[in-house]
Amino acid sequence: MSIITITENWEGKFKKTSFESLSYGRHIANQMNSKLIAITIGGNNLESLIQYGADKIINITNFNFENNNNTDIAKVFSKIIEEENGSTIIISNTNIGKKISPLIAQNINAGLITNAVAYPEKNNLLKVKCKAFSSKSFVVYESDYNKNIISIIPNSIGEINQITGKGEILNQESEIKSNQDYQILKRSKQNDKISLSDANIVVSAGRGLKGPENWPMIEELAELLGAATACSKPVSDMGWRPHSEHVGQTGIAVNPDLYIAIGISGAIQHLAGVNASKNIVVINTDAEAPFFKAANYGIIGDAFTVIPKLIEAIKQHKN
Ligand SMILES: Cc1cc2nc3c(=O)[nH]c(=O)nc-3n(C[C@H](O)[C@H](O)[C@H](O)COP(=O)(O)OP(=O)(O)OC[C@H]3O[C@@H](n4cnc5c(N)ncnc54)[C@H](O)[C@@H]3O)c2cc1C
Repeated sequence: MSIITITENWEGKFKKTSFESLSYGRHIANQMNSKLIAITIGGNNLESLIQYGADKIINITNFNFENNNNTDIAKVFSKIIEEENGSTIIISNTNIGKKISPLIAQNINAGLITNAVAYPEKNNLLKVKCKAFSSKSFVVYESDYNKNIISIIPNSIGEINQITGKGEILNQESEIKSNQDYQILKRSKQNDKISLSDANIVVSAGRGLKGPENWPMIEELAELLGAATACSKPVSDMGWRPHSEHVGQTGIAVNPDLYIAIGISGAIQHLAGVNASKNIVVINTDAEAPFFKAANYGIIGDAFTVIPKLIEAIKQHKN
């Protein structure tokens, strides 16, 4: 029986979420006194996985995340998991992770524990605390399957650099034949900025910003803080910002260290996607805005006054 972490990369470069799921796998492997195997497709710089605790790395060279469909990717991973006799499989709950984990669970007849936010319990490795009901509550799942996949919410554990020494690296081809029924013609990244699911800091703005012409100050603030930008649903519905920035129940769920909400009222559907943030700062003219109830820090004020001042203060601080 082995502990396996599925690691995701884009054009060969490993994501921060993969280092986090490796750290999670390492923790379990240590508890079970077992080896940790990292598996991936189309990866480069495989040594980086060793730093996060992988004892063995299997990289499939004839598949990749950009061009292969999720059914094929799931088949490739399922085959390695079976060959390596995987008992606990860790994956990050990213867009791709959400799609392939149920397919793998079905292929290998494993239990699937989704949205984990903590390590399994010390004396019961199959009892895991998870988020439920759009992050409004927690649930503890216990599985009685022999094999289990645990999908973890990005940024819930953090990545832990391990100085464990050496790992074995295997580059090999898979015998799986690509499904010709449908193909991914192209997957492309929205832009080169920090992706929302990888971001430690998110600067998000809503309808209070009045129009798309007022976003340069949001982008400037985000750039100064090394943050990703996000927005509320109406903002993306109106085309002020791309849909890829929409956070909330029907958008992306984020879990950063710091979420700055500017001109957003804090409707329950918005909060569902952001209330897992470790710190929330709200900037709003309306002292009664519901978002203040979820905030760690609040500024009652006009974004058009507060944000330029904040930008100025950060610049001064940086100097
Ligand atoms: C089924 C369903 C799913 C939904 N899913 C989502 C979702 O995933 N994500 C999401 O965001 N919404 C979602 N919504 C919509 C949600 O209910 C709210 O309508 C939406 O979040 C409101 O967006 P907002 O806060 O930007 O706008 P508003 O509610 O219009 O709030 C604007 C805020 O800006 C403040 N403001 C105004 N001027 C300024 C200023 N100059 N400076 C500072 N503050 C100012 C106002 O006081 C106000 O609080 C969903 C709704 C439904 C019915």
